[in-house]
Amino acid sequence: MVNMDFSKKLLQWSGRENVRHMPWKGEKNPYRIWLSEIILQQTRVEQGWAYYEKFIKSYPNLKSLASAKEKEVFKLWEGLGYYSRCRNLLATAKIIVREYKGVFPDNYEEILKLPGIGPYTAAAIASFAFGLPHAVVDGNVHRLLSRYFGIRMPMRSAKDKRLFQTLADALLDKKDPGKYNQAIMDFGALICKPANPLCTSCVQSKNCQAFQHQWVNILPLKEKMPARKERWFYYFIVTAGDGKYLIRERKDKDIWKNLYEFVLWETGKLMPQQQIRESGFVQENFGKTGFQILHISDEMMQILTHQTIHGCFVHIRLKKPARCLKNYLLIPADQLDQYPFPGLISSYLKSGIIT
Ligand code: SF4
Repeated sequence: MVNMDFSKKLLQWSGRENVRHMPWKGEKNPYRIWLSEIILQQTRVEQGWAYYEKFIKSYPNLKSLASAKEKEVFKLWEGLGYYSRCRNLLATAKIIVREYKGVFPDNYEEILKLPGIGPYTAAAIASFAFGLPHAVVDGNVHRLLSRYFGIRMPMRSAKDKRLFQTLADALLDKKDPGKYNQAIMDFGALICKPANPLCTSCVQSKNCQAFQHQWVNILPLKEKMPARKERWFYYFIVTAGDGKYLIRERKDKDIWKNLYEFVLWETGKLMPQQQIRESGFVQENFGKTGFQILHISDEMMQILTHQTIHGCFVHIRLKKPARCLKNYLLIPADQLDQYPFPGLISSYLKSGIIT
């Protein structure tokens, strides 16, 4: 049987050759597994590793995370992107403390109800922590199964996802689901890689449809990406000359919610420096003559999955407090590093332009 052959060879490979080391591998503590899985959503292992260690050090258990200050958790998450994960992390920790007496739920259905946890993460926690028979289907597994079985289907619709989930569940070793799930993910990451998979030395090559029919480079079928949105953010770094700066928390339903920023003017296009100086935004917020523009930075850029953010920083000194002041916090320069900022702003601050 091909299926049995696939699973058997996968486990044999894992036992003999799988040397992939990660700090959460083999972990049984559901809190640590959950933390690592949330960090690894949309993040490469190499980047997530240091964040995982920082979080475990600062919040060694679920209760310490649930009672942490939101601003501090976001600060620790800074640079990792996809901040909804951080919001969900905090929400889930609080729910477990409040509704489950601080004990991580030990069944798939309850785990799946928690914020930020989809079928993949629920299966990972259920199988790694509790040995439950739920197969993981992430990008690695989708790629490997598409190639091995010659399936020409992306993972776009609910129907596509169901097909891959059914197949993965059928292949799962029910005796040790955690070990099997780890093996299939590692195999996808180390052997059946997105580019240059190691087909000639692969233990699955004999029955692999993609290898046998030269489909390796066309499988898995890719999803069409939506058009990228371009946005222009002009940040005014405002001070009244007393070494304090205006910042506020982003609260709207948009990118970077809960992170902090300087006074923002979002325009639909690139603005030449002269237009920034003479713009209605500047005059409305800072008056016609009550300010001095000290410096305008070069354009910077942050690329997100579906958006490109063009950013520019305008240093401005006010003669007296501006109208926009009331919605902002006034923070001394040496305390700015205590606040979580989007990557665009934190890299600008790291250049030491504000001291
Ligand atoms: S033969 Fe190549 S494409 Fe097929 S499973 Fe192995 S690495 Fe992947």
